[in-house]
This record gives sequence, structure tokens and C-alpha cells, in this order.
Amino acid sequence: MGLRSNRRTFVGGLGALLASAWGSGRLRTASAAPVPAQPEKISGFGSSGNVYQELGVATVINGQGTMTTLGGSLIRPEVEAVMALATKHFVSIPELERAAGERIAQMLKLPDGYSALVTSGAAAAIQSGLAGLLTGDNEQLIQQLPDLTGLKSEVLIQKAHRNPFDHQLRATGVKLVVIETRDELRNAVGPKTAMMHFSNFANSAGQIKVEEWLKLAKEHNLPAMIDAAADTPPVSHLWDYANMGYDMITFSGGKAIRGPQCAGLLLGRKEMVHNALLNNSPFEDTLGRGQKVGKEEIVGMIKALELYLNEDQEALTKQWWSRLDKISTEVTKVPGVSTAYFVPDVANHVPHVQINWDPRRIALATHEAAGLLRKGTPSIVVESTETGLAMNSFMLQPGEDTIVGAKIAELLRAHPV
Ligand SMILES: *Cc1c(COP(=O)(O)O)cnc(C)c1O
Repeated sequence: MGLRSNRRTFVGGLGALLASAWGSGRLRTASAAPVPAQPEKISGFGSSGNVYQELGVATVINGQGTMTTLGGSLIRPEVEAVMALATKHFVSIPELERAAGERIAQMLKLPDGYSALVTSGAAAAIQSGLAGLLTGDNEQLIQQLPDLTGLKSEVLIQKAHRNPFDHQLRATGVKLVVIETRDELRNAVGPKTAMMHFSNFANSAGQIKVEEWLKLAKEHNLPAMIDAAADTPPVSHLWDYANMGYDMITFSGGKAIRGPQCAGLLLGRKEMVHNALLNNSPFEDTLGRGQKVGKEEIVGMIKALELYLNEDQEALTKQWWSRLDKISTEVTKVPGVSTAYFVPDVANHVPHVQINWDPRRIALATHEAAGLLRKGTPSIVVESTETGLAMNSFMLQPGEDTIVGAKIAELLRAHPV
């Protein structure tokens, strides 16, 4: 009885739906060509279309780049669509992780013996990668972290490479052994040494550069990890360091790749990637259980990479330059203002503009200028430097270059000496 009445209700409901679809003309469209999935109609929170405004949190124009504190990057719409597909079924997460890792290794044409793991970010990749190295696949050791009793307990790093993300190394319980010279490195290697870590963005700051660091690691028979979180573009960096021979390489998924914000990649030797996963969510009683990766992020990361690899990088770069040109043209109309372009060597390797002003003509401290732009409407985020402001354009949305140029020009004009 119950079943029949349910069926009737269901059929009745379907009939009503078909009738209304026919009435609105949507069904005819549907029979001719597949209709893209319509977003669910939102009532209540989100119904205005601007969730941030509903919460009273101002959105910003991002001239700073892929900063996690500003939300990283804007996810590609197709990635979002694929993530929505992932929400519709249950799967074994470890099985999905392994399949995704193989697919990513193929897409990036990583060398034989390499695989990939989607993590919750580059920071998580650093932590799980090292954890896996320390514990191997030994369940008891995995549960024991960050207690390193009986395990290797030191990681070598150059002084100039220390940065806030080495907290993820220290979180495993290891001690960082900080060195500067080749001799110091040789003396520091010992039975407790687990790994040599390289921060790619600091390449030029350290005495030992990226290739030599790897060579020294091989000489000492130590695994080498490189953090290249923000180091695309160029796209080729996604395979360059694996081809060079680094054992583990970390990337952010939610920076220039424009994947899910809470995703990243650990690329590395199969066994290391395998052991990293064992130290990570969804496995319990692990150091990485707090770094959950969802099925949505895992498939979203694949899609983001696919799109990133097929993107016309030259056209993108041109667009980034032309936005900066527009801003430069506008601000240099203000007497006493000059601009200069630069591209950082590594990490945020994208066009930047430096906007300088003559303090004899414009009376505004650079940090005040940045602060006023941040507090303005719309709020604009750029960096202040010693001589002026610096910004990039790769996270600007269409039309924002015009706004930024006008607002900075207006601000500087408003502060004559
Ligand atoms: C952003 C960044 C990280 C952290 O990456 P997430 O994907 O946000 O976890 C690590 N190292 C460097 C150098 C970074 O720029």
C-alpha cells in the first residue's frame, strides 16, 4: 500500500514537472540538445547572489595575487561543475586518491616511478610527504607521530630557505638543522637525517641552488623535497623538478592553477606518495587526519590541471601585461608619478608594476596609500614598497584594471604637497 501510494505521488509529481517544463518551453529545448544543469534556486542565505555582502564582509579587488588570506584564486567554472558532479555519489576515498594520482602523473607525464597525491594544499603536501618518509607504511609508527622515538628526526634546510611553511615540517616532530655552506651541510648529515628540504622561491637567496642541492642529497643518499607551491607559471614547473630528480614536489592547487581552494599536490616517488596518503585523511589516528581532502577537491584538481595544461599561456600573459599598461597609463597622468615593470624570477612569476611618486610633489606615505586603497570603496589590495606601490594583475577580474587605475590616480591627485 505504502509503496503504491508513494509511486503514485512520485508519478504525479513527475507529471506535474513535465507539464510545467513543457509549458515553459524547456522540455523542447531539452529534447533537441542537453540543457546545462541549472543552479539550484536559492532561498534564504545566498538568495541575493552575493553571500559576502549578506554577511557584511567586503569583497576586494585583488592586485596582490594568489594570497590564501584573500581566498587564493577564483576557481574555474568548469572545475566547479565537475566538483558538483562529485557530490552525487559515494566512493572509497583511498581508491579515488590512487586513481586520481595515476591520472595526474599521466597528465603531467611524470617520470617512471612517480605518482601524485591530491592534498588539502601545498602545506599539507609538505607535512604528509615528510610524515610518510619518517614512518613508511608502518601503522604503529604512523600512529606514534609526532613522537619520533626510534625514527630519524632531522631535516636539513638552508638558512635563507626558512619560511612560515616549515612549520609543516616541524609538525611531524623533526628538528630543522639549519645550514648555510656546503661544508656545514656535509657536517650536518648524520644517521638522524631524514631529508633535505628546498624552498624553491628562495633559490637565489641561498648559497646552494636548486640543482646542486639535489646533487648533494644524492651524494648523501638522502631524499630531497622541494616546495614549489606558488611556482607556476611557467606550467613546465609541474614536471621540471620531478625530471630533475627531486623525490617529492609540492604545489598549491588553489593558486595560479585555479583549482579548488583547499587542494594541493604532492608529486613524488610512488612509495613516498603511498606512505604520505597513509599519514593523511581519511585514515584515522594519523598526523594528517586534520587535512581532509574531499572527493570534490580530488576530482576538481584533475579538472583544474587539465584546463591549466590546455590554457594559452601566451595570450594570458599578454592580457596581464595589457591590464598593467592600462593602469600605468592612468596613474602616470598624475604629475610626479612614474612606473616600472618587473617579473619575479620564481614564485608569482607574472608581470608586476611598481608605481612610484616624487615625495616633493605628492605627500602620501606608501603604506598610507595602500591602507587608503584597502579602506576605499571598492576595496583594493596592493602592496606598499619603500618607494610606492606594487601590484600584479593576474587575479584582476574584467574591468577591474580600469577601476584600479582610476582609484590610484584619484588618491595620488588628492595628496599634493
Ligand atoms: C602558498 C604557499 C604554501 C602553502 O600552500 P597551500 O596550498 O596554501 O597549502 C607553501 N609554500 C609556499 C612557498 C607558498 O607560497
